[in-house]
Amino acid sequence: MSIQTVNPNTNKVVKSFDEMSDKAVDAAVAQAESAYTEWRKTSYEQRAVLLHKVASLMREKKEQLATLITLEMGKLFAQAEGEVILSADILDYYATNAKKFLGDKHLNPEHGKAFIRHSPIGVLFGVEPWNFPLYQVARFAAPNIMIGNTILVKHASIVPQCGIAIEDLFKEAGAPAGLYTNLLISGRRASALVADDRIKGVSLTGSEEAGASIAAEAGKHLKKSVLELGGSDAFIILEDADIDKAVEWAVVGRLNNNGECCVAAKRFIAVEAIADEFLAKFKDKLSAIIVGDPMDPKTELGPLSSEAAAVQIEGQVNKAVAEGATVVLGGKRPERPGAFMNPTILTDIKPGMAVYHEELFGPVASFYRVKDEQAAIKLANDSPFGLGGAVFTKDVKRGEHVADQIDTGMVFINHPTWTQADLPFGGTKRSGYGRELSELGIDEFVNKKLIRTSALSDPF
Ligand code: NAP
Repeated sequence: MSIQTVNPNTNKVVKSFDEMSDKAVDAAVAQAESAYTEWRKTSYEQRAVLLHKVASLMREKKEQLATLITLEMGKLFAQAEGEVILSADILDYYATNAKKFLGDKHLNPEHGKAFIRHSPIGVLFGVEPWNFPLYQVARFAAPNIMIGNTILVKHASIVPQCGIAIEDLFKEAGAPAGLYTNLLISGRRASALVADDRIKGVSLTGSEEAGASIAAEAGKHLKKSVLELGGSDAFIILEDADIDKAVEWAVVGRLNNNGECCVAAKRFIAVEAIADEFLAKFKDKLSAIIVGDPMDPKTELGPLSSEAAAVQIEGQVNKAVAEGATVVLGGKRPERPGAFMNPTILTDIKPGMAVYHEELFGPVASFYRVKDEQAAIKLANDSPFGLGGAVFTKDVKRGEHVADQIDTGMVFINHPTWTQADLPFGGTKRSGYGRELSELGIDEFVNKKLIRTSALSDPF
């Protein structure tokens, strides 16, 4: 696949890039390794100055960066601006808190004196997706730079200008050469790089296929990996929910980021007592959604990230219908150029149909009607994925009890799954392993070194 900016609003090629040669990649890895020997000796305070500077540059260039995001992957401009601010917040969060998170941890062993010292491990390799071009990179790079590691990022091939812009921010902030390097290479070449002895760990956010490829290579070479993969989050509406509020959040949960969110609400599970009311109101709201140019402030749903993504989701809908599902709303692509898909609701989905088990990465909601709370939990857990989920109920204790029984990495009550710097993010099952963000996110690529001192008077 070539590395190109293609505007999904028009499907026109805007700019093409040559991939880096193997020689150039080798030089970049060598520079990251050499930068590590110095960066590991810097203090938390020095590292924080750099990250705060990158964060403030991001805020200064908010409009420019958001325009690039929208151009390359079709996110609504206002949401792209929100992503820039969220990314800057993540950089500031780790710059401010890393010293506290990584301070020595004193132990009380039966004999002697001991503590844990958190040390960096070296050059890390991040493989990132296009759906949140700045945020995904921020949550990988910020904690690791604060630890003292150095970073190589292979960004998705459809957002090359975003990838380059992030590297430029680090350069402008005065980062030493090799601290943060953008690798313009295709996914095809990414896994092979994991074998390089100079790379000590790898983190991938993306599809199961890419995750399995990277993790296999990491396993073969005995390296730590973190995987943030897909999801098919359940959005459970119980009979005591505030239905109007649930409907509003359902629309946001499904359509945010044009539906291309790993933690988007994808499976709407309503208990019998309120199922008709919820579905009718959800359908009303989705049918009124304005589809169009993501730069137009009136637009509520932009294009998918690429023509291939639109073709894929339309194909999933067609296959679902062929297998017996019913289209309650939408189901087709609008008559206009660009990678668009209309808001869609599918019902009558049964186990065994492809759509029951797959992730729907776009504005297509699966709707299920179940008898009661227990049936809702059972259906929510009947998925290969385990990323996020949501429960709507006025009874918070009940919500927590339901959340406890859902087999995912995150469950939100009365809100779709969402993210912020100080909340951990990650999944179970085929959604991956490891955590990003919060204190947990700084714990993945760090050597928790035990230092133990014996008293000279200790017996043999
Ligand atoms: P993808 O194809 O796996 O792409 C993600 C990254 O992996 C890109 O940089 C891609 O490079 C690279 N890649 C592709 N094939 C590879 C391979 N065989 N070996 C190594 N790297 C490879 O994913 P996508 O379909 O674009 O992204 C959407 C998926 O990501 C969805 O499933 C979504 O749920 C998931 N996601 C998860 C999270 C999370 O935090 N859990 C967050 C966001 C997205 P190229 O672009 O060059 O192919």
